[in-house]
Amino acid sequence: MLRILFVEPGAAVAGPAIFIDRDGVINCRRPDDYVLDWSQFIFLPGMRVALKQLATLGLPMIVISNQAAVGKGLLDSSRLEEITTRMQQALLSDGTPLAAAYYCIHRADENCPCRKPKPGLLVKAAADFQIDLRRSIFIGDSASDVEAAQAAGCQPVLFGAALNLGTSPNLGTGPKAASSSLEWLQELSQARTANDLFEVATKCLQARK
Ligand SMILES: [Zn+2]
Repeated sequence: MLRILFVEPGAAVAGPAIFIDRDGVINCRRPDDYVLDWSQFIFLPGMRVALKQLATLGLPMIVISNQAAVGKGLLDSSRLEEITTRMQQALLSDGTPLAAAYYCIHRADENCPCRKPKPGLLVKAAADFQIDLRRSIFIGDSASDVEAAQAAGCQPVLFGAALNLGTSPNLGTGPKAASSSLEWLQELSQARTANDLFEVATKCLQARK
């Protein structure tokens, strides 16, 4: 796990937080590739505005992301830190302070406890910042984000028009699997675009008060 703190965890308040996946939510995914350099980090349209709106809620905003490129030797952790710092500085210039970023830097075959869909990153961040997971939300674009949120006991918010189906056991192939995945989707809070995100996220946070 690579942990990058932008603020020191303060006194215990046991309040909610906003957890945010990175690739596909904050920045554009690179098809079949990783973000290996800041020049490849492109903010998703409308997302900087949406994050600024979320920042007005005054909750810790924490990035939660798998970056197996490090474990695969494609990306130095120092370079990942640099990309992360530049992202944080860009958002801070908008008026959006991030509290921290937690990365799983392992490969899938390493069977670590932090790679999503496991909840390790969320659990560690919650311990560091005294976060009440049950009152928190995790905004992500893939089934592994939804599963990690549910495993940690926080509320998933599915972002984007197209679900990255990943490896969810709920999502197989064939008509039967398709209908069960549809039911699975309908129960989720979804924000299709950055414009919808603030409203959906605040509703989820209020529902858990
Ligand atoms: Zn890991």
